Parts: sequence; C-alpha cells; structure tokens
Amino acid sequence: MQEHEKNGVLYFTFSNLDQVSDIFVHAFSSRLGGVSTGDLATMNFSVNRGDTKENVKENYRRFAAAVGFRAENLVCSDQTHTNYVRVVTEADRGKGFDREKDYHDVDGLVTNVPGLVLVTYYADCVPLFFADPVHRAVGLSHSGWRGTVSDIAGETVKVMQERYGTNPADLLGAIGPSICQGCYEVSEDVIREFQKQYEPSLYPLLYTKKPNGKYQLNLWEACRQNMLRAGLLPGHIQVTDLCTGCNPEILFSHRASKGHRGNLAGFLGVRE
Ligand SMILES: [Zn+2]
Repeated sequence: MQEHEKNGVLYFTFSNLDQVSDIFVHAFSSRLGGVSTGDLATMNFSVNRGDTKENVKENYRRFAAAVGFRAENLVCSDQTHTNYVRVVTEADRGKGFDREKDYHDVDGLVTNVPGLVLVTYYADCVPLFFADPVHRAVGLSHSGWRGTVSDIAGETVKVMQERYGTNPADLLGAIGPSICQGCYEVSEDVIREFQKQYEPSLYPLLYTKKPNGKYQLNLWEACRQNMLRAGLLPGHIQVTDLCTGCNPEILFSHRASKGHRGNLAGFLGVRE
C-alpha cells in the first residue's frame, strides 16, 4: 500500500485506486494524527467505544483535511456483521458525522452522488473497496468472517449492478488493512461455515489446521475469492500487505489489544 503523511496524519491508499484519483477519493486511516487518548489514541473514529463526540469529530476534520475532502460530506455505516448494503443518496449527506443516522444494520454502502464520502470502521475486519470508473459509482463494505461467509462483497457488486448498471469487469477492487492469516486463529465451527461457502479445491488457500485443533484463517484470500466470484478481474484486485495485528503501533487491532482499542476507518467517494 502507499503510505502518506500530512500534518501528522498517517494514512494509506491503494495504487490501483490512485490511478483513478481524478474520479475517486479514497483512504484508509492509521492511529496517528488524531486527538483521542488512552486505548483510543489517537485517531479513533468511533463514538461507541468511550470517546467523546468532540474528539471523534475533530479526528474526522483532521483526517478529511489531510486527505482532501469535506467532513460534512461523510456518510457513515452502522455495522452489525450483516451483509446489508445501503444505497446512499444526497439525503444521507452528513449522517453519522453531524446528523443522526436513521438506519441500522448497514455493513455496506454504495453511492454515485459526487462529493459524498462513504465511511466504514475496522479493527481487524476486512475493508472492501469497489470503484466503477465507467459509471462513476463506489461501494465500501465491512467484511468480518460473518460478512465474508455471507458474501457482502457479492451483495455490494449486485447492488451496484442493479442501481448503477455496473459491469463487474470494469470494477477496481481493493482489500484493505485487516488481520492476516498468521494472526487469525479461529475454531472449527468458523471453518465449517467457510467449508459450506467455498469449493473444497480452495480450502488449502483459505486455512491451515494446527496441532492444537485450531485453524489459521486467511480472510484476505476469502474476500479476494468473493470478488472474483462477483465478476471482478484478477488484475483489478489489490490486496493489502498491512496487518492490523502485526502493527499495533500504527493500527488498531481488536485481537492484539484484547478489545482495548479505537476504530480505524475506510473512506471512499466520487469526486465533485
Ligand atoms: Zn498479522
């Protein structure tokens, strides 16, 4: 991933989306450059983990200023590990930032309204970015293990096809900073859910079994397979090299911090 720093704000971008930065704005945050303290230090984007609304708002402002968009244009998710995707319109501008959200259980967002910037939240789960340069539309989805087996990637692409006429072969996809296979031990009941959703030929790519009876799960590959199944071309998908669990100094990780952490965020929008 490409690393950027402005006014103390460290953030990341994908090179395939950087190539269409005249059409889209996108970024993934780090912990650095915000005003939050303690376990939430410093760039926390969540109001439901003990932070003040003032701190979170100031973090959004600093992040937006560093990346180059207006915080008032943000539209925030309401994540509960579903595969529900909301079509975001002009009426949603500012929801979750300076207006109350009037929707719930939204793990994916899509829009084609220029200027709006979609936001989703992370601390190990997988951010999925979708950009359609032909129809100038975007999708941004939160894919933890539940969202991955329920294929929120495929749901996001389906909604973009229905609403914007997106051809999946045109889509640029990116899989963002999240937990790597080496850091992600899961139990057999989780693996069984993956076995139901993927071809047996893919199992060796998705997990390894350990002597202790547990498994190491590769969510990045599972999400890449979901994007391929949705019709994205292999050469259009970029997979992160940044693990939240391996980099606790710059990223929030639920596992590495044993739950004492803030939230990172992914941002994606169509430029005005
Ligand atoms: Zn790791």
